Amino acid sequence: MQDRDVIVIGAGFAGMYMVHSLRQLGLSVSAIERGSDVGGVWYWNRYPGARCDIESMSYSYSFSEELEQEWVWSHRYAMQPEILRYADYVADRFELRRDIVFNTTVAKAEYCEVERRWLVSTETGEIFRCRYVVMATGCLSVPKVPDLPGLGHFEGPVLHTADWPAEGHDFSDQTVGLIGTGSSGIQSIPIIAHQARHLTVFQRTANFSIPAWNGPLSIDHEADLKRNYRALRQKARQSYVGDFADEYYVSILDLSPEDREVQFERRWREGGFNYQYAFTDVMVDETANDLAAEYVRNKIRAKVKDPRMAEILCPKDHPLGSKRLCVDTDYFETYNRDNVTIVDVGADRVVEMTETGLRTLDGEYQFDALVLATGFDAMTGALNAIDIRGRGGVSLKEQWRDGPRSYLGVAVAGFPNLFIITGPGSPSVFANMILAIEQHVEWISALITYAEANEVREIEAESEAQEDWARMVSESADKTLFVKANSWYLGANVPGKARVFMPYVDGFKVYADACEEVAKSGYRGFRLS
Ligand code: FAD
Repeated sequence: MQDRDVIVIGAGFAGMYMVHSLRQLGLSVSAIERGSDVGGVWYWNRYPGARCDIESMSYSYSFSEELEQEWVWSHRYAMQPEILRYADYVADRFELRRDIVFNTTVAKAEYCEVERRWLVSTETGEIFRCRYVVMATGCLSVPKVPDLPGLGHFEGPVLHTADWPAEGHDFSDQTVGLIGTGSSGIQSIPIIAHQARHLTVFQRTANFSIPAWNGPLSIDHEADLKRNYRALRQKARQSYVGDFADEYYVSILDLSPEDREVQFERRWREGGFNYQYAFTDVMVDETANDLAAEYVRNKIRAKVKDPRMAEILCPKDHPLGSKRLCVDTDYFETYNRDNVTIVDVGADRVVEMTETGLRTLDGEYQFDALVLATGFDAMTGALNAIDIRGRGGVSLKEQWRDGPRSYLGVAVAGFPNLFIITGPGSPSVFANMILAIEQHVEWISALITYAEANEVREIEAESEAQEDWARMVSESADKTLFVKANSWYLGANVPGKARVFMPYVDGFKVYADACEEVAKSGYRGFRLS
């Protein structure tokens, strides 16, 4: 049994910063990480084309001015290897690895009410005793493998984008089947298409995607941003997404048809998420959303030469942005290649995997290798994979059977001294996640500091505060079009998972202000004893 003040589970960007921050408070801390190194998502998702969708100058830590000035990003949106190098650099620079236990999976965390300590057990039987537990286990860290009949019978290699071999995979001279056209599929398809002899994409749902217009970051532009970094970071903290892209806040329905075209084209040319977030009404008004969506569909029709293929690729069953908007490089253009085919497998048209490929209701497809770009058991997957037991031995997974409920997305009633970074009920996946992580780490650190200074031994969310928060999160989401899709935000991609909209939709700034208010009030909604 090893004693620590705090155990952090996970060593992605959340766990890394949490370790650093707790050390500054003079607390003893260990992070426990399943992988063999830091980086989290960027350690696991090594598929070809993996890259961030928030600009790198923004998708990076802001807690150290020296760090942000030293590090040089090569591109507007960094690719996975570069982001992993950045995580490695941060770990070296702040000597984080000495407090991280790698290659170790946490299986259980159990609260002992008598000792007021958590016992954290690993799969190999090590036990850590601690006063606080921080779950930095990630929102997108449990790959979702589809329940395909006969998957085990397929004789070729099966690669999941979120568990990609570190040595890569050479597709040259191979025929490839790829399932899934969400962000990972849309990023990897153009690159795999270049390598493979033939690529067959199996699409269940067409998705909206906006061009990244990615390219090298000029030295002058980077220097300019670095000169203004403090102001830009401040601007990000005051924004909806937590990013420092300009937010224009134009209402689509207030514009004339001509102006609308101008604005759509302008956002399209800027690329990225601003296509969705620059308009005030796109996520709340179906007419506004239809106009923005049709503009994208017409772009797809203009890019894809085969009209039949173009229609398959045009999303028509959900509002734009209600599933995570994708940001691509030459995704739709890839379907003009002779060696790429798309198969619309709609709902339930896949019958089974065979030894050599896949059989649908409409035909049989053969390929040498299969890529699963099928996403994650998002937001609650990694938390529910650990047997977390709070007061009275109550299981978190059981408590969340009908959907996750938390206070501020950070704490859960009945689970004292346990905190979640970017948990359900916080902006998390709706924000620039590095900023969302920083805000949580700093807020949790301040709460622990307060507890230490005031001889508080137990910090626990009150049930009433939790219920009020959960109701507010759900009511806010219900006023938007985010709830109009069968998305992973709702748990709809995992059979049997409760359909509850998990992220907080009112934006990073409003959320951070609410957290600040709670802190200023002496942590209203928490029982401190
Ligand atoms: P993670 O990076 O997921 O780290 C969690 C870690 O916990 C993992 O290393 C995991 O191994 C470990 N872990 C989990 N359970 C256990 C256990 N039981 N025992 C031990 N270790 C455990 N966000 C953005 O804001 N912008 C983007 O552009 C963006 N792009 C993305 C692209 C991809 C392909 C993916 C998958 C996600 C992307 N995200 C993006 C979201 C991303 O999740 C966050 O940006 C961020 O990296 C999350 O960091 P984290 O530390 O919270 O979680």
